Amino acid sequence: MAYGFDTLQIHAGARPDPATGARQTPIYQSTAYVFRDADHAAALFNLQEVGYIYSRLTNPTVAVLQERIATLEGGQGAVCCSSGHAAQIMALFPLMSPGKNVVASTRLYGGTITQFSQTIKRFGWSAKFVDFDDLDAVEAAIDDDTRAVFCEAVANPGGYITDLDAISAISDKAGIPLIVDNTSATPYLCRPIEHGATLVVHSTTKYLTGNGTVTGGCVVDSGNFDWSASDKFPSLSQPEPAYHGLKFHETFGPLAFTFHGIAIGLRDLGMTMNPQAAHYTLMGIETLSLRMDRHVENALKVAGWLEKDDRVSAVTYAGLESSPYHDRVAKICPKGAGGLFTFSLKAGYEACVKFVDAVEIFSHVANLGDTRSLVIHSASTTHRQLTEEQQKAAGAGPDVVRVSIGIEDADDLIADLDQALTKACG
Ligand SMILES: *Cc1c(COP(=O)(O)O)cnc(C)c1O
Repeated sequence: MAYGFDTLQIHAGARPDPATGARQTPIYQSTAYVFRDADHAAALFNLQEVGYIYSRLTNPTVAVLQERIATLEGGQGAVCCSSGHAAQIMALFPLMSPGKNVVASTRLYGGTITQFSQTIKRFGWSAKFVDFDDLDAVEAAIDDDTRAVFCEAVANPGGYITDLDAISAISDKAGIPLIVDNTSATPYLCRPIEHGATLVVHSTTKYLTGNGTVTGGCVVDSGNFDWSASDKFPSLSQPEPAYHGLKFHETFGPLAFTFHGIAIGLRDLGMTMNPQAAHYTLMGIETLSLRMDRHVENALKVAGWLEKDDRVSAVTYAGLESSPYHDRVAKICPKGAGGLFTFSLKAGYEACVKFVDAVEIFSHVANLGDTRSLVIHSASTTHRQLTEEQQKAAGAGPDVVRVSIGIEDADDLIADLDQALTKACG
């Protein structure tokens, strides 16, 4: 029987603790696990039997979260990691090698643009940034050395929705996996695998945990990609020298990517999620659908109010009728465009700085996806090092404020924005 989302967000992956009957998933605060005997230990190390060895690789609390997220995304398996940025490296790692590139959307979380344009160069990898609304440009950017296509479903800082069906048609034709960062939408609002994504990555720090307590990340594998169809993915299709010549795809089929992520990715990169973090995220996920419905409802009300205010020059929420991406909401994220968007103040940079100091319910922080409403003026904070041109290209011009709308009373949020706008704009 196929359960609904609300049931799965509470039950998938979990069962009463076999040792104690504990109904809630215990925090297995243990580094290592006793082998039954030497044969059992050998079978575990040979990946002939699935079990627990050492918590850098696998932990029972983290395993419940992995299964929960994989189920909600409609994937075959998942690997949790220490942060969203760790998840992005873990997703690329089995695919890339020196000289290979990823074709990435220009509309990405600022930290991802930095990770892709600077840090991955140290591994000999590179990124080619393209406007994902220009499908010809995406196709043209894919070359013989491309090993992944990367975008966000609902892009941070908000207001942009990727046409995942059109992008996956291009990556499919090229025989390249599509990686979708589904952090801003969550599997409740968008299911990228149903639109052709090969892998889905998350910063579980945000809506999945939902309460601003822990950082974490996750890579979900659809299990749909044929790693052996070309010679482009030797870590998965050929004997893997880092695991005594094991052929992951041949051995594990649709779980090849997940097993590789644990047996090699976590083993050697060590970007492991700890069981405490998994616990907080499991607590959060139980109410994901309820929170996302309220985030969307509130974001629509607040964005609609801002759009009519004459101190505001633009609002970029894709849920608004006025958004150029409004039609894609119905197709890509039919339950709503999330809780994240930007708006611009006619009075410019100085007014934005005064505005973030004047809000009372909203918190001025570099985070999103909390139950609390959050605000940031990117040009004076996260995007401070960029030129004005670069800021504008990233949707973070000097007059732009980003909000992550929480689940408080919408009327209180509107009243808070109103009083702060009065202080900032006179
Ligand atoms: C926050 C975020 C990340 C990075 O996640 P961390 O958990 O902070 O490492 C990646 N992508 C998006 C869309 C994000 O919002």
